[in-house]
Amino acid sequence: MIDLHCHLLPGVDDGSKSMDISLKLANDAVGDGIDYALLTPHHMNGVYLNHKKGVIQQTQEFQVELDRHKIPLKVFPGQEVRINGDLLTALDQDDILFADESGRYLMLEFPDDDVPSYTSNMVYELMQREIIPVIVHPERNTKIMKQPNLLYELLSRGCLSQITAGSYVGIFGKKVEKFSEHLIESGQVYIFASDAHDLPGRKYEMTNAFKKLKKEFGLEYVSHFNENAKKIINGDDIMPNDFSEIKMHWFGLF
Ligand code: FE
Repeated sequence: MIDLHCHLLPGVDDGSKSMDISLKLANDAVGDGIDYALLTPHHMNGVYLNHKKGVIQQTQEFQVELDRHKIPLKVFPGQEVRINGDLLTALDQDDILFADESGRYLMLEFPDDDVPSYTSNMVYELMQREIIPVIVHPERNTKIMKQPNLLYELLSRGCLSQITAGSYVGIFGKKVEKFSEHLIESGQVYIFASDAHDLPGRKYEMTNAFKKLKKEFGLEYVSHFNENAKKIINGDDIMPNDFSEIKMHWFGLF
């Protein structure tokens, strides 16, 4: 499996605090069936800055350690970029890492409780530059949970979405789990990722999530999600899902 979102780089954000922990998490990743991991430290979220050059170098150093410890995980440099007013400048300064080498897919995060009012304009600007935002964990955004049409509109304009595997198997509670199911059911999800951190109660849930996906939605969804992850990391075209708005009666759940 390919994991396009994790916090495995040591000492750079709220993820792994040391190389030992990073190696342990990498072992967990391999144990959960992951072969390739895009390392996505937080960037420009108001707390952490992880500049492109630094991430590339740290990723190479981490790969050396992985190889030395014979952990069969191939890592790639990335960033989880928080939407912010300086994003276009950062792009102009070549300080942004994408999910793919060709600079097409951007792992874009919103604040936990908001979809800023300038999001629409920012997405327009990104699209003008032929950048496709992959909205990370919309299922845990409290504003999107209350107004799912916010995500629907972004997807309608060509954005993609990534659900955290753990959300779908219930580690963030029933509400997030149910909302994840509704998003998948309405075609509003493109990939799973681990968003692995070194936190109590957080473990790799990719295998579990895919097991559940197969049971609830069938093998087709499993291959579709896996194929999408591969296409994103390779910078290939992704066909938009045939998605629909979340039905009104589901609003009652929140
Ligand atoms: Fe993250």
